[in-house]
Amino acid sequence: MSNQHWLERSRAAVWHPCTQMKRHETLPIIPVREAKGIWLTDFEGNRYIDAVSSWWVNLFGHGEPRIKAALASQLDTLEHAILAGFTHAPVVELSERLSELTGLGHAFYASDGASATEIAMKMSFHYWSNLGKPAKNRFISLENSYHGETAGALSVTDVPLFSATYEPLLRQNLRVPTPDNRNAAPGETAEDVALRAAASLENVLAKHADSIAAIVLEPLVQGAAGMAMYSPRYLAEVRRLADRYQVHLIADEIAVGFGRTGTLFACEQAGIKADFLCLSKGITGGFLPLSCVLTTDDIYAAFYDDDVARGFLHSHSYTGNALACRAALTVLDIFRDDEVIARNAERAAEFSRYLAPLQDRPGIRHFRHTGMIWAFDIEHPQAGFGLAFFQKMLGYGCLVRPIGNTVYFMPPYCIEAAQMEQLAEASWKSLDALERHAGSLSGQGIALP
Ligand SMILES: *Cc1c(COP(=O)(O)O)cnc(C)c1O
Repeated sequence: MSNQHWLERSRAAVWHPCTQMKRHETLPIIPVREAKGIWLTDFEGNRYIDAVSSWWVNLFGHGEPRIKAALASQLDTLEHAILAGFTHAPVVELSERLSELTGLGHAFYASDGASATEIAMKMSFHYWSNLGKPAKNRFISLENSYHGETAGALSVTDVPLFSATYEPLLRQNLRVPTPDNRNAAPGETAEDVALRAAASLENVLAKHADSIAAIVLEPLVQGAAGMAMYSPRYLAEVRRLADRYQVHLIADEIAVGFGRTGTLFACEQAGIKADFLCLSKGITGGFLPLSCVLTTDDIYAAFYDDDVARGFLHSHSYTGNALACRAALTVLDIFRDDEVIARNAERAAEFSRYLAPLQDRPGIRHFRHTGMIWAFDIEHPQAGFGLAFFQKMLGYGCLVRPIGNTVYFMPPYCIEAAQMEQLAEASWKSLDALERHAGSLSGQGIALP
């Protein structure tokens, strides 16, 4: 079967995510026949470096043998069972281990990131309501934030391309300036920007705290904003302000958790604990859908009562799926056994060396890096830059998806020197080619996470 065969069937039968399907009249869909390590292979034998970790979910490469083996053995005993009134070993063990690692217990499970955001928002509101403060029912999020695309999550997401159409369905929440390092005025440090953004937040809290349940943010890196990076100082300030003004802090580590920022969880770098920690994406190493919201004893206790309605009556059919939990436990084993965090620090230094020439290339701005995420902006992108760059890079065997004028790399942690070199060289050559053809592009850039 050829690529053409599968792409035609896919176009006819599958409604692809985050896509204007008409665009695929001309832009091919790439059917993946198999994936191994960092490579995706199509039906004609072309190989692509998965430099976006398959939408940020893959951690150790495709087909990681230990996760495969753990899933196979889990399949022999239990694939899934109802989690209301029943429990099982994988969900208990995973909850215990996540609690040890984060200092937050009481793990509540769902299947995707947006649902984790919804759960944290509902829990936060319900907590205040149980305390007799139902007026605390709005949320603060950051400029350019992304927290998922169900109606509640979209109401704290600031990506107009995704949210504007649905405005009538969305609750009006509050937005505060982002501490994005790129907003530094001449002479300002990242920490100055963080303090300035925190001062704006304090102004909003001083006026509106009585109607605010929580502030929700992506710690250290705002992914869908185009890998906007910011100082841990901001997190420390938000923690302080959240305590002072009695609002919750929801840390959405759906994208940045599990080592992406150089520590297991991004909040560690500010030495803070959120009131709610949302995890998903890398949690199963990219094998199965799973998300989790962890919270404090205090919040849990506010729901613990003889009154049923004071409990958190929320559920998803696949809550605590045994296979997904087993995969997640294996992910935690791998972090421990392979000393992934320490190894990644070496890998990151090496990849930064390969990418260093790009940093000084004319026309490139804001080259930045946090942990296992790299990004840079094109100063004067032609119309259609994102799509054109994506296509050029495919030609060099690399899958990257620019966000607006930002090119980023978020590779699986198994990336090796040869692949780093290939990505760096392909980027350089693709930029060369696009500069040669400047002005001859048409259409719009793709603005996709
Ligand atoms: C991807 C993402 C989500 C949404 O997760 P889904 O599984 O796609 O619903 C939420 N928050 C952040 C920061 C994300 O990157």
